[in-house]
Amino acid sequence: MSTMADVGTCSVESCSFNHDGCTADAITVGSAGDHATCATFISLGVSGGLPTVRAHVGACQRADCTHNHDLMCHADSVTIAWGGDEADCMTYAPSM
Ligand code: SF4
Repeated sequence: MSTMADVGTCSVESCSFNHDGCTADAITVGSAGDHATCATFISLGVSGGLPTVRAHVGACQRADCTHNHDLMCHADSVTIAWGGDEADCMTYAPSM
């Protein structure tokens, strides 16, 4: 198990960090209601990120997710997509 989960896929093309996928070095996943939101999402008129990078989940505030231990994501990879209002982590699996 890697120590930081990969951002396997991000389909949120309106994000400044998205250039055929996430190019932020690390993202932070936050919490809003029953969603796990990508807190790194930003839609600006400038290009963000690094030319070649494999993005990771640096931290995750969604402590109730089964993949979350000590506010770190231990999934192999996560999928980020538009959740209606915000960019969301679709790999979020709330524990019962
Ligand atoms: S899978 Fe769970 S722990 Fe990992 S980033 Fe998504 S919400 Fe956070």
